[in-house]
Amino acid sequence: MTPPTPPRLRWQTATVARIAIETYRAKTFTLRLSRPAPFRAGQHYDVRLTAPDGYQAQRSYSIASPPPASRSDAADTIDLTVELIPDGEVSPYFHEVVQAGDVLEVRGPIGGPFTWTPEMGGPLLLLAGGSGIVPVRSILAHREQVAPGLPALLLYSARTASDIIYRDWLDNRCGAAIRYSLTRQQPPGWTGYARRIDPAMLQDCIRELATRIGKVAAPRCYACGPTGFVETAADALLAVGVPESAIRTERFGPTT
Ligand SMILES: Cc1cc2nc3c(=O)[nH]c(=O)nc-3n(C[C@H](O)[C@H](O)[C@H](O)COP(=O)(O)OP(=O)(O)OC[C@H]3O[C@@H](n4cnc5c(N)ncnc54)[C@H](O)[C@@H]3O)c2cc1C
Repeated sequence: MTPPTPPRLRWQTATVARIAIETYRAKTFTLRLSRPAPFRAGQHYDVRLTAPDGYQAQRSYSIASPPPASRSDAADTIDLTVELIPDGEVSPYFHEVVQAGDVLEVRGPIGGPFTWTPEMGGPLLLLAGGSGIVPVRSILAHREQVAPGLPALLLYSARTASDIIYRDWLDNRCGAAIRYSLTRQQPPGWTGYARRIDPAMLQDCIRELATRIGKVAAPRCYACGPTGFVETAADALLAVGVPESAIRTERFGPTT
């Protein structure tokens, strides 16, 4: 007999409650779930679109919002932040067609290794490239809710200052140390990094975490973004001596 499909893998409807513009190419969609469920920071939902002729397209989107503070509580709503890939199939639909009140098909929460729960502790070194900041936002927001004293440092690589998603929240309310690298263009007077991620940058970040804690402590590392970014980040972490067992990765797709 075929085992029943677990609830998280069964499609459900979700209503778009709100849409917020994050950057010129990123929007956040707050979805009200018809079947609320608990989730862990770092997990994602799948979204399935069906055209009138029956053609279907399915993509994964990480949850940007933090889980409810109590792990067993179900989340009625989730935030998904979608970055526009201009020649893409699904992300332009989100940006150009989806309106508040629309009903979408989703399933989840999905994902195991790229998650953080308070028992896992820290310190945390979070590495995000482009829209890879989305699940990292959930992790940072959850940490701020349940373990604000836990040292955390985010290194966020984006093309330009206008590409930084959640900038106001990161700079003013997230509670972690933030380092940016702008790889394509930097505003006048920019004092952050201006290159692709490399071992020297990570060594700086690990040193800064140690200074904040007052001792050297091996960080738990999370790297998320385009495939090339994640591979470079993981190699650089290994090169500076972080053990493989302390590195968790999530690849979103091709290198931009
Ligand atoms: C676990 C997981 C979580 C994800 N979470 C998010 C998220 O929170 N926010 C988000 O915006 N995206 C996220 N993605 C990526 C997302 O699933 C889609 O791949 C992305 O939106 C592009 O889909 P599309 O249909 O618009 O483009 P497609 O039609 O799939 O592709 C169009 C073109 O863009 C290229 N491409 C595809 N994906 C990417 C990418 N990520 N970066 C650059 N080029 C790409 C393709 O190679 C192709 O040339 C996640 C992916 C995974 C696997």
